[in-house]
Amino acid sequence: MPSKPSSALYSRPVAGPDPEAVRVCIVGGGFGGLYCALALHQRSHHLPRPVHITLVEPRDRFNFTPLLYELLTQELAPWEIAPTYQDLLRPTAIDLRQDWVEHLDLTQRTVALRHGDPLTYDYLVVALGSQMRPPAIAGSQAHSLPFNTLADAEQLERRLADLDHRPTVRVVVAGAGPSGVELACKLSDRLGQRGHITVVDRRGEILRAYPEQVKRAATRALAKRGVAVYLNAAIAAVDARGLTFGIQGQPHHCPADLVLWTVGTVPRPWLGGDRPSHTALGQCQVMPTLQLPAYSNVFVLGDMAAMAAPDRVGARAQAPLTAQAAYQAAPVVAHNVAALIANRPLKPFVYNHLGDMLTLGQGEAVVCGFGLCITGRLGAFSRRWAYWLRLPTMAHRWRVLKHRLGIKP
Ligand SMILES: Cc1cc2nc3c(=O)[nH]c(=O)nc-3n(C[C@H](O)[C@H](O)[C@H](O)COP(=O)(O)OP(=O)(O)OC[C@H]3O[C@@H](n4cnc5c(N)ncnc54)[C@H](O)[C@@H]3O)c2cc1C
Repeated sequence: MPSKPSSALYSRPVAGPDPEAVRVCIVGGGFGGLYCALALHQRSHHLPRPVHITLVEPRDRFNFTPLLYELLTQELAPWEIAPTYQDLLRPTAIDLRQDWVEHLDLTQRTVALRHGDPLTYDYLVVALGSQMRPPAIAGSQAHSLPFNTLADAEQLERRLADLDHRPTVRVVVAGAGPSGVELACKLSDRLGQRGHITVVDRRGEILRAYPEQVKRAATRALAKRGVAVYLNAAIAAVDARGLTFGIQGQPHHCPADLVLWTVGTVPRPWLGGDRPSHTALGQCQVMPTLQLPAYSNVFVLGDMAAMAAPDRVGARAQAPLTAQAAYQAAPVVAHNVAALIANRPLKPFVYNHLGDMLTLGQGEAVVCGFGLCITGRLGAFSRRWAYWLRLPTMAHRWRVLKHRLGIKP
């Protein structure tokens, strides 16, 4: 194995930057950053000047988060939903730095890395996503597992393996949002008769922001699996024995072998002194072109940006914190960076809500959009197909399709 350069965890060797090249630095390799890098790389061949794209990302694998649940039921393999950046970027000239960004200096146009030398840029794209809200509930961090990344799914898999010998496995899922509901259904199918699954939420309904048809399908799926759902239940504490919550003023203890924490993510904070103006949730205020108002060469997208969604999602004025929104914003930012380089007009980002999709157990899903709602196996097939189309790079999509069809590589 080639030794790793000391200046970074890993640097993908590409030709040294052309001194004439426009330097574009993209920080965060998720739905916003990776897809923007790929779209800009495609456009770069048609620009009047050479472009050097650097992508900074600490993980070695892209995480296609909407399909993480499928790992629990082994419906999909880790490589399918978490391809390595090396594989994805191999056919491109994108310069990958596997490293953490520590500081952004918008005035000096530099990006400080934890391990590597600082980078300088002409254009900066920031897409660092979200992180867990700092825990406000006693014991929640020490005695529960998160479920946000491939590493979290692997950790959960190890815990489930430890519980393999038990005749019953009691799981409490904190949060009845999409993650809580999807996890509860998948775990119920994974554990079968051995599983006793409980979902607890302080709100009075599941899937608060979702359309009624989705809520109804999810309620049916939970009931069919015998998942106990406690609503209006304020979680008070988590310990090694389970989770305690208050319901109608009465404390209730729910014993658990495993507590999963799906409540509360917040946009990652800005990494620098000159923090742009932001919303109450902590998202950066951006212009319709997704530029920062005070720095036209800096773009922010995905969960970190308050991206406008005029008239698109009912009364909501902002795009939701979803892969769908980040995925749509990525080519717009790529277009706008290319437009600045080529001295062409920029275009605004217009969020287009295509619908909602949730997995509701093994081989089961609900897909609602354009006035249609599909559930059951057909829902699962439609959801899988829609996500297959959105996997990064054509080469990866083909690899997955051939594997699914049993065609040898
Ligand atoms: C379990 C789960 C299921 C989900 N399901 C859905 C779904 O079904 N549909 C949907 O639309 N959305 C879903 N989402 C939400 C979706 O994943 C996010 O909204 C989307 O990923 C946001 O894109 P982003 O580019 O802003 O951030 P991300 O995709 O999270 O990418 C951020 C990247 O920045 C990197 N990073 C973080 N800190 C640093 C640093 N200091 N330096 C460098 N890099 C850094 C991270 O490693 C990460 O790769 C789900 C999320 C989770 C956790």
